[in-house]
Amino acid sequence: MQTVTTIAEARSLLDAARARGDRVGLVPTMGFLHDGHVSLMHAARRATDTVITTIFVNPLQFAPDEDLDAYPRDLDRDRQRCAEAGVDIVLAPPVEEMYPRPMSTTVAVADVAAPFEGESRPTHFTGVATVVAKLFNIAGPCHAYFGEKDWQQLQVITTMAADLSFPVTVVGCPIVREADGLAMSSRNAYLEPAERIAARVLSRALQAGVDAVADGQRDGHAIRSLLAATIAAEGLAELDYAAVADGATLRPVETIDQQTRLLVSAAVGRARLIDNCAAHGPGPLSP
Ligand code: AMP
Repeated sequence: MQTVTTIAEARSLLDAARARGDRVGLVPTMGFLHDGHVSLMHAARRATDTVITTIFVNPLQFAPDEDLDAYPRDLDRDRQRCAEAGVDIVLAPPVEEMYPRPMSTTVAVADVAAPFEGESRPTHFTGVATVVAKLFNIAGPCHAYFGEKDWQQLQVITTMAADLSFPVTVVGCPIVREADGLAMSSRNAYLEPAERIAARVLSRALQAGVDAVADGQRDGHAIRSLLAATIAAEGLAELDYAAVADGATLRPVETIDQQTRLLVSAAVGRARLIDNCAAHGPGPLSP
């Protein structure tokens, strides 16, 4: 495995790989890697020949009052996890390499980026779309792997890649969870012991929604209320949003169908957590 810190090094390694006939798999991350990230690397490893993981805590996607400085970092451990997952190249650029001067150009995605995360974090998706557009241009033609954990982000990136004709196939991968249902996240490191227990309420709320749908409930408002009430009942969790939306457009859904997604966000202590699942799915707590 090679670790590089510059765009030029990554480009030349990937150009050489493609010249050999390799398919390239790209796994963008912000590091502090957990099994969710590793599952993306495994998916890339299975389907492509040269796998590159990027580790970059992207300042553009953090608002000034968010946790950019506190965001957990451990490059040595991350490199170890990448090596174990069979990654070929780690690109870990310093901020000055990605943004040598203030950015004049950004990528803003409308519609699918507007609700939910877009309302709570108004500058977030422009920061995400801009850095991912840069990473796509650095990586060149490739398959790029993203987690369904960030469902709305996955739709934003899929939309951007199609709208701007990136030579990239965006691949969504299932959410990896802790044994009790909590979706793995680098931000779970912020949770104190009591908060860690309280954080289970997100997946429990989703499971309650899925169970109600399985019992025949098809009214989007009723399921939304159920999600919100379940989270509100947990004293240590502060609900941000609970939503019942079309999985591709993220528009609110009146009557639940096969495309419907349940999405929740809540603050637990210092951690802002998100989770989602298919309304007709097995649910996050099902084996
Ligand atoms: P992050 O480092 O949080 O920016 O995440 C990098 C990538 O890993 C994104 O595509 C995330 O959706 C994905 N990811 C994060 N957590 C999980 C998880 N628990 N299961 C699957 N993918 C995840």
